[in-house]
Order: sequence, then structure tokens, then C-alpha cells
Amino acid sequence: MRQRYLDGLARGELIMSVGVSEPSAGSDVRAVRTRARREGDVWVIDGEKTWITNGAHFDLMICTCRTSDDPARGLSHFLIDRDEHPVATRPIEKLALNRHSTAQVFFDGVGVPAANMIGREGDALKNTLVLFERARLHVAAGSLGIARRALDESVRYAHLRKQRGKPIAAHQLIAAKLADMAIWVDAARLLIHRAAQMLDAGLRADMEAAMAKAFATEAAVDICRQAVQIHGGNGVTRGYIVERLAREALLLPIPDGTTEIQQLIIGRALTGISAF
Ligand SMILES: Cc1cc2nc3c(=O)[nH]c(=O)nc-3n(C[C@H](O)[C@H](O)[C@H](O)COP(=O)(O)OP(=O)(O)OC[C@H]3O[C@@H](n4cnc5c(N)ncnc54)[C@H](O)[C@@H]3O)c2cc1C
Repeated sequence: MRQRYLDGLARGELIMSVGVSEPSAGSDVRAVRTRARREGDVWVIDGEKTWITNGAHFDLMICTCRTSDDPARGLSHFLIDRDEHPVATRPIEKLALNRHSTAQVFFDGVGVPAANMIGREGDALKNTLVLFERARLHVAAGSLGIARRALDESVRYAHLRKQRGKPIAAHQLIAAKLADMAIWVDAARLLIHRAAQMLDAGLRADMEAAMAKAFATEAAVDICRQAVQIHGGNGVTRGYIVERLAREALLLPIPDGTTEIQQLIIGRALTGISAF
């Protein structure tokens, strides 16, 4: 599979998606119901995935399927090549982040060769949790970009916009907002860099990636809200990018584990007790 697909993926010629979530399996990955049953050299997949990023356009999907009812080792990963194994999709309309599609994906007796199993049978839960450490940093880094742009736009606007004969940057309450936004942006950046350095060094960074994801995504929501406020009425119009940034930021505390799930991961790392 590496020989066949990695080159195209690295070149951007193939679009990948990751299919974990289902209508009744969101935060709780263990609840996945999409089932793969073995028939000779083929696994036959039946079920439904939802919220799938690139769902309408993917060429390849890493699909999490139930291959047994074992609570710890019941899930396995399969690579779905859409050219060879067509699936039906239905787009989901959403508030923002519309540069990529989000869709439901339906599997109705889709036969996938046994060679397309990624890792070993029963490894998917463990591998998904490892995958999430990296995926969370991508979401955190995307949030940081949104937050930084919102700060930059706010600094620019605070220079340009005058009220009571001076730029609004010269009003102390606006200066305080800008200062807080800059502190959050830098704190998010440092949390992301720490977790990324740990992953680069080959270390697990479960708690650190969770801290970076929770903080950066929630900070982006708060920073964008302040950016809209600094822009006044202009901030809610399509003519100013802070309106779009605020909508996009709102989505990011949800994918790859919600903020609440990150809090539970951090709590478990601190106390050794799972509160899931
Ligand atoms: C923009 C976007 C892109 C996405 N892309 C993908 C993708 O590519 N592939 C994919 O598989 N999925 C994707 N998802 C799905 C995403 O991973 C799920 O939406 C997310 O995990 C939450 O699941 P849910 O929506 O079912 O919410 P639920 O799990 O139903 O959660 C609802 C609320 O309850 C809270 N909650 C849940 N469990 C607990 C608990 N134990 N303790 C406390 N609070 C709890 C949650 O934090 C949340 O606030 C995407 C979602 C979005 C919004």
C-alpha cells in the first residue's frame, strides 16, 4: 500500500480522508458499529461514517471498522480505494471551513481485499489514539493561524479606525484587548511547539497534545470574538475577514476530540483516574 499510494498522497494527487465518526459513535470511538466481516480473501464492509472531512472528494479513506466484539481489540483499519470500491456519499452543509467538504459515507456490502487491512486485526483503537496525538496538533496549528490573522487584522484596524479624535488603539480598553489576544496567541504557539518537539523526538505526547488542542482551539474562538468586537459593526460584515475567521474558529474545538475530551485526557494524565 505504501508503494502504491504514498507517492500520490505526498504529491497531492490523491486526497485522503479518515473515517472514524458515525451517527452514534462520536467522542466514544469504542462505539463504532460499521462492521467488516471476512469472506475468504475479502472483508465485506457495511455501515455509515459521518462528518468525514474530504468526504465528498476522497480517493482513499482509512476506515475504522468493527471486526469483532472484543472491547479492547474489536476495531481494525482498512484502506478504501474509491476507484476500486465505490461508496455513496452525501454532503453535509456546515457553518464554515467550506474549503473542504464534509460528508456522510455509506458502505453497503463493500468488498475490500484482505491485503488492505492497515496494521494487524484489532489494532485500530490503539493506532487511532496515537494518530489523534498528531491530528490534534494539526487542528491546534490551524487554530493558531486563524487566531494570529484575527490579531493582525485587529492591530491594523485599531490603527486605522478613529473615535473621539484618535485611533481606537489609543483607547486603553482596546489596547488591553489586543494585549490579551497577543498573550493567548503566543501561549497557544508555545504549547503546540512543545508537543510537536516531543513527537519529533519520538516521545508520546498524549497530555501535551491535548493541552495544545484544547487551548489553541478555544483561544481562537475567544480571540476571533474580540477581533469582531474591535471591528465594531464592520466585524459582522462579509467585507471584513474577521467575520469568516470567527465562524471558522467556532468549529475547531469539535473535531479530533472535543475540548471536553481533551480535559478528560489531561485529567487522566494528572490523576491516573479515568473520568470518561
Ligand atoms: C469540521 C469537522 C470535521 C470533522 N472531520 C472528521 C473526520 O474527518 N473524520 C471523522 O471520523 N470525524 C470527523 N469529525 C467528527 C468529530 O470527530 C466529532 O464530531 C467529535 O468527535 C464529536 O463527536 P459528536 O459530534 O458525535 O459529539 P458527541 O460525542 O455526541 O458529543 C456531544 C457533546 O458531549 C460532550 N461529551 C461527549 N462525551 C463526553 C464525556 N465522556 N464527558 C463529557 N462530555 C462529553 C462533547 O464534548 C460534546 O460537547 C469532524 C467534525 C467536525 C465538526
